[in-house]
Amino acid sequence: QAEAEARERAKPAETRDGHRIAIGANVNNPEQVPLALDQGAEGVGLMRTEFLFLERGHTPDEDDQYATYAGMLKALGGRPLIVRTLDIGGDKQVAHLHLPKEENPFLGVRGARLLLRRPDLMEPQLRALYRAAKDHVPADAPKGKDAPLSIMMPMITSVPEVIRLREVCERIRREVGAPEVPLGIMIEVPAAAVQADAFARHCDFFSIGTNDLTQYTLAIDRQNTDLAPEADSLHPAVLRLIRLTCEGAARHGRFVGVCGGIAGDPFGACLLAGLGVDELSMTPRDLPGVKARLRHAALADLKALAAKACAQEDAAAVRALDDAPAGA
Ligand code: PEP
Ligand code: MG
Repeated sequence: QAEAEARERAKPAETRDGHRIAIGANVNNPEQVPLALDQGAEGVGLMRTEFLFLERGHTPDEDDQYATYAGMLKALGGRPLIVRTLDIGGDKQVAHLHLPKEENPFLGVRGARLLLRRPDLMEPQLRALYRAAKDHVPADAPKGKDAPLSIMMPMITSVPEVIRLREVCERIRREVGAPEVPLGIMIEVPAAAVQADAFARHCDFFSIGTNDLTQYTLAIDRQNTDLAPEADSLHPAVLRLIRLTCEGAARHGRFVGVCGGIAGDPFGACLLAGLGVDELSMTPRDLPGVKARLRHAALADLKALAAKACAQEDAAAVRALDDAPAGA
């Protein structure tokens, strides 16, 4: 019984008509990798590096960070790893950095905005990442979606930000003598989704952060428990932004992942696949349910379902399209 379940978890998320969705786990440290792989992850689609800063109570130096990134690469043994650079600000406040207090931290200096203002935080992190690439990514490793290491920038809102971040990455990569590493961006504000075709020219892939994309689209603080029932990532406005993101990416041959919470919801995962998302990354415990549900579906049906969902008037109407028996 246990063995049969393990075999089931290990099967790819391939639809009945032969379309494969890549499946990753959201994992922040090497110790969590074996569990994620056991649950059926094919790689790590989101490593949130701000946890290195939050857990330690001090800023980890370059060597300290290198050890963690190298540990992740070793634990994954060549499977894909997407490392997100520091996403501090908003709901992720790091007391020991003593950053200026803001009236509206969610609309303030967070993510890429902080990275660009604080080379003392960004550059050691990038050096640690490129050193890990140099030491642990073989020259003949796959490129693109299957690359053993990719770097991703959080909270992007403008193309010039991406151009500047790319320049810093390229300078540090050359200094370190590392191989090229795919560079992607998080799509988590409406501006980035609407302009996805422009962003796609300047980066290698997208990962949609539906937690923040929902917050910024619906103007609902993601931490406000009173409004939590209304903060539904399956709101048609959010789905239409995801559709725009996939269309913009497709125009330039870029792949699109989703690493926000809705990727771990089996019905949500079906809609995302139908909208054209290539990869889903989630909490390890959500992996088996999502993979099983996708394997029972046909991509043609998911596309029709996604089109129907985008045409609904509200999130409740989208949820009503889910005809799976409760708990399935
Ligand atoms: C998101 O916003 O959906 C996301 C994955 O990033 P985080 O939850 O870390 O903000
Ligand atoms: Mg986010």
